[in-house]
Amino acid sequence: MNKFDYMEKHGYEQIVYFYDKTTGLKGVTCIHDTTLGPALGGTRLWNYQTEDEAVLDCLRLSRGMTYKAAAAGLNLGGGKTVLIGDANTVKNEAYFRALGRYVQSLNGRYITAEDVNTGTKDMDFVNMETDYVVGLEGKSGNPSPMTALGAFHGIRAALRFTFGDDEISKYSFAVQGAGQTGYYLIKYLVEHKAKKIYFSEINQKHIDRMKREHPEVEYLTPDKIFSANVDVFAPCALGAVLNDETIPQIKALVIAGTANNVLMDEEKHGNMIKDMGILYAPDFVINAGGLINVYHELKTYNRDKAVREIERIHDRLLEIFEIAKRENIDTQQAAKVYAKNRIQTINRLHANYIKR
Ligand code: NAD
Repeated sequence: MNKFDYMEKHGYEQIVYFYDKTTGLKGVTCIHDTTLGPALGGTRLWNYQTEDEAVLDCLRLSRGMTYKAAAAGLNLGGGKTVLIGDANTVKNEAYFRALGRYVQSLNGRYITAEDVNTGTKDMDFVNMETDYVVGLEGKSGNPSPMTALGAFHGIRAALRFTFGDDEISKYSFAVQGAGQTGYYLIKYLVEHKAKKIYFSEINQKHIDRMKREHPEVEYLTPDKIFSANVDVFAPCALGAVLNDETIPQIKALVIAGTANNVLMDEEKHGNMIKDMGILYAPDFVINAGGLINVYHELKTYNRDKAVREIERIHDRLLEIFEIAKRENIDTQQAAKVYAKNRIQTINRLHANYIKR
């Protein structure tokens, strides 16, 4: 991979490599675009087989963060850090403090948080060396209920756009995955008296929890969830679940859930869903609740304010659905147009000098 070509093609600002000789910490921070504000994105720890694999993952994820933050109306850019190592062996205080020092060296251009294989306890160590970290213990808390809350409001928007109202009690749902976010989404749907809810899971503990807490929510085996006869299919498990094989099975008229990168091929499968007359709520817009929540940690954290901002995912999605309809493009593409428009507009707004 020629990294400079890739950076030029996709508009990246910076790739930072770091290696700490005391702890063996090695990784990369990618800053995609800081037009709107400091680049924010979590730190992922993964045993990448090659350096290129790690850098490409970091580049891809940081770009995704730019659009996610822009579409969420936040004054943040997109960034990400990946650490190369085995999560079972490398983690300790010094390792994460070393990371904190690299984050600090970027002087606020990049703010980190937890991600795959890193948690709030690790971020507490990072915080000993830098102020540029969010998602800390005792601050904005677990992002999952907030991500699910945003998805809940996104589902309301998709129902309204498709059926003309968002009365949850009139509709039925199939939720794929009842882990952190799926569990809370189901809880909100139950509280709003959804007509019928199905769920699928592969983790027996999560199946048992659901059966115990919400016996009215019906279990379906993972292969049956796509073809469930429902109004809304909510992917809340893995990425790439919407593909050539699964999309034709879907009976729901709305696809809206918390999972990231659900379209295996954005363009192809975004169009396939559109052509079937199904409304797809773009993943990076509907699942931004956790990011919006953590963003509020940068000021004095106020839960009510964060919740109000998360509720705005509803109106934002309606706007994106309108763009898709007007331009006759799929909703994922419309969401990108929406995010890029905001970045360009704010960029132009800042073209003249105003003393502050
Ligand atoms: P999680 O691991 O807690 O839950 C996912 C659940 O899906 C697990 O319980 C797992 O057993 C189940 N699962 C895996 N494969 C399955 C299959 N084939 N069929 C049915 N169930 C299956 O993860 P999470 O935090 O709830 O995240 C879910 C998705 O949402 C991910 O794509 C994640 O990137 C995305 N997301 C999460 C957040 C957040 O705040 N946690 C924020 C934004 C996006």
